Formats: sequence, structure tokens, C-alpha cells
Amino acid sequence: MKYEPVIGLEVHVQLNTNTKIFCGCSTQFGSEPNAQTCPICLGMPGVLPALNREVVAKAIRTALATQCEVANVSRWARKNYFYPDLPKGYQISQFELPIAVNGKIEIIVDGRPKTIRIHRIHMEEDAGKLIHGENLGDPAHSYVDLNRTGVPLIEIVSEADMRSSEEAKAYLEKLKSILQYLGVSDCNMEEGSMRADANVSIRPVGQEKFGTRSEVKNMNSFRYLQKAVDYEIARQTEILDDGGRVVQETRLWDSTRNITLPMRSKEEAHDYRYFPEPDLPPLHVSNEWVEETAKSLPELPDAKRERFAADYGIPEYDAEVLTTDQKLAAYFEEVVKSGSDPKTASNWIMTEIMRVLKDRGVGIEQSPVTPKMLSDMLNMIKDGTISGKIAKDVFVEMETTGKGPQEVVREKGLVQITDEVAIGKQIEEIFAANPEQVAGYKAGKTKLIGFFVGEVMKATKGKANPALVNKILKEKLG
Ligand code: ADP
Ligand code: MG
Ligand code: ZN
Repeated sequence: MKYEPVIGLEVHVQLNTNTKIFCGCSTQFGSEPNAQTCPICLGMPGVLPALNREVVAKAIRTALATQCEVANVSRWARKNYFYPDLPKGYQISQFELPIAVNGKIEIIVDGRPKTIRIHRIHMEEDAGKLIHGENLGDPAHSYVDLNRTGVPLIEIVSEADMRSSEEAKAYLEKLKSILQYLGVSDCNMEEGSMRADANVSIRPVGQEKFGTRSEVKNMNSFRYLQKAVDYEIARQTEILDDGGRVVQETRLWDSTRNITLPMRSKEEAHDYRYFPEPDLPPLHVSNEWVEETAKSLPELPDAKRERFAADYGIPEYDAEVLTTDQKLAAYFEEVVKSGSDPKTASNWIMTEIMRVLKDRGVGIEQSPVTPKMLSDMLNMIKDGTISGKIAKDVFVEMETTGKGPQEVVREKGLVQITDEVAIGKQIEEIFAANPEQVAGYKAGKTKLIGFFVGEVMKATKGKANPALVNKILKEKLG
């Protein structure tokens, strides 16, 4: 039997507000445990939450950028469960009336665009963190850090529109890109500020009704997401092929063993007993607020990609890669504005620059080669000062020393040889040393031209202008 995978994602994103959602405590990551707490986020009896307006502002930005409808009235709800990292015994979230519904995001997989619908976006508070002593050589204890309780989250729930792990990954990447453009979250997956739950089911090809799903919780990398989805598809396929039935359950991704493991089944699932939060009034958002927010949105990745392809004449693929990261896109534009050919700039950024960033594990803003350095170097290729081949060496030197291209070329004596007399003299020496090849060429073995070019380049350490070398060789060989 052939099956079609069906995937829906629930993504939690920490908003980068300075203070928490219902109190004035700092949201700074990595402080002393429990240093950023107060009676409100510690869940003391009798305290009252006060909503941070900035959280709503950022939720509205996200809703508009994902083409959602923003609700004029939404409501807070209590989600009740007991866990040591949740001192109140409930989480304030939104349930029946979320801040936004019915959005969409466009993804591109294998060059084909596809729309993934967004079911809803709601706001909620994060819970604290448990640190288990096993990892600290202290297996008898677990520790509770409540710095994270009350950090604002939005949860973005997609429709089950994805049909492969590649689409799931592309969706999460696009979402991250949009959130970063908006400046609403740092989306640092390693620090947990963006985490995804994947709902996965399979159905026989042609069947409309969805199959029974499993939900893999809390993945904090694109790679894990993709692997976990593929693992679930394979696991469920095997069950159905063996005549079994998939059970609805929550699973966890084990990144050391590369498998998912059951966490709880539907029968053991929480009943959160949601009810409206009595300590917070319904949230009213005016049309004016929504309209003002819409006007303040930056150019988003899709619009930028289309503009790059149209205005700079670069391939769709290049435009896609360059606009995934807003800062990378700005870097590219700066290089091009200094007079570099767009496609040449794009090639260098997508290969050399991105390799350096990957090696160093840094973002474009920390690139050792600035836009000015790159565009100066590209201009030196264009005006013939250096060859494209030598430029690779210049680039490496710029990257490791931080020196500009002019300085590197001067210090290393890398200026291209364009002096026809000098090149001619060099060629004569090579002819004198290789009479057989010269005779061979004259007898019709014209492929030997490659041998001569190679010898000239060797003798000049790659500095001779290749076009001139070819031209002079042909003249001299008749
Ligand atoms: P919850 O997980 O809280 O019960 P929902 O039932 O609304 O919430 O579903 C959460 C996510 O699971 C959504 O992204 C939805 O599209 C997706 N989903 C629902 N049913 C299936 C299914 N049979 N297969 C794959 N994904 C599904
Ligand atoms: Mg769920
Ligand atoms: Zn607090």
C-alpha cells in the first residue's frame, strides 16, 4: 500500500520583550536561577496579573505578517495542570478566542511554491524549567528554575497541510525567517526560544480522511524535526503494513538514538479543564491599532525575494537564499550598491561568505569580510587588477587577517600581470624549454595550447592575465 504523510505543526515562540507577560520581571536568558522572579510569576496567592502591552503588539505583528485575521476581542483562559515548574498550578493561555486565526505562509520546496494555512495564533505564558541532577552528578535531586515562568510565548498552529518532512522543515524555516524580520523573537532554537511539536499521520493515497496521528513534542532544531517526522512516517507505515493500527499518542524525539519514544497515550492525556481567566478582562484590540501595525511592518521575505529576482536579475534560487536572513539580504544589497555585478556578488556570498560563517558559527553581522571589503575585491577583479583565481587567495587572506583587499594584494604582490611584453618574454622561455611541444602544436596538436597556458600560469604563480596569455600564445604559435 502507498501512503501519503499528513503533517501539522504547533510552534512555540518566546517573544523578545524586556519584561514578562504579566509582571515586570526581566526575561534575560542565562541569569542566576530564580533571580528574575516576583510574587506574580512565582504564583503567590492573592496577586494579580497585569498584561504587558508589548506582548500583544508583537502578537499582532506576527498575525499580520502571516496574513491572519486579528480578533477585536480575545480572551484569556486558565489551562490547569500540576507540574513542579508551574507554581500556580495553571498556565494563563488563550483557548476559545485566540488573538488571531486563518492565516497562511508560502513555502518553496524543490522550486515549487506551496501555501501552508495557519489555523490560529494565541498568546500564553511560559512555564519554568526543571534541571535534573543526573546531568550534574547529583542524581538524587532535581532543581527548579522559575526565571522562565511568565516569559511571553505565542503558539502558532498550522493546518495539517504539509505532506513531507521537507515541507515541514521549509515551513519552520520560513516561519523563523518571518519572525526574525519582524524582530519579535530571536528564534534561538538552542536556547529554546523556538520549539516545534509535529503532528504526523499517514493515509492511503487517494483517501481523504486523515489517519490517526502521533505528536512529537518539543523539537529544537530543523534537523531533529525532519528526522523525527521521517521516523514517524516509517514507523506508522510499518504498523499499517503489518495490519496494525496507529494509536494516538504523544511521543518524544531521542536525538542520541534517532528514534521517537512514547510519552503518553490519548487515555493518559491531560484534561486541562480550561476556563476563562477571572483575573484578566477580555482583550480588546482596536482596528486603529491593527492598521497602524500593518503600516509599520518591514518588507517581508517573500516580497524581498521577488524584488531581488526582478531588480537584480539574479536566479530565484539565489534570491531565496539571500532573503531568508534579513541581515544577509542587507549585506548583499550593500555590496551591489558599491558597484558590483549582482550575480557575481551573489555567487561570492552564497559560497565563500556563507562557508566562512558556517565554519565560524556566526551570523553575517560578524563576518570578518565586510560588504566594503568584498565589493572592493570584486571591483579589483572587474578592473583587471587581480584574476578571479587569485581573488580566492585574497579572500582567504582577508578572512583570516581582516585586512582589506588592496592591502593584501600589495603585501603579497598579487597584482595581475597584464604587461604584454613581460608575458611574451615568459612565453618565449617556455617555448625554448619545450621544443617538442612547440613542434607538436605546429604539426596540428592544437590541444597543446592548454599545456602552454598551464606552464605560463605556473611560472607566474597564477598572476598572468589568462585572456592575454591565450591571445599572445596563439599569435606566437601562428
Ligand atoms: P491539540 O494537539 O492541542 O489537540 P489540534 O487537534 O488542534 O490540537 O491539532 C494540533 C495540530 O495537529 C494542528 O497543526 C493540526 O493541523 C494537526 N493535526 C490534527 N489532526 C491531524 C492528523 N490526523 N494528522 C496530522 N496532523 C494533524
Ligand atoms: Mg498538540
Ligand atoms: Zn515576576
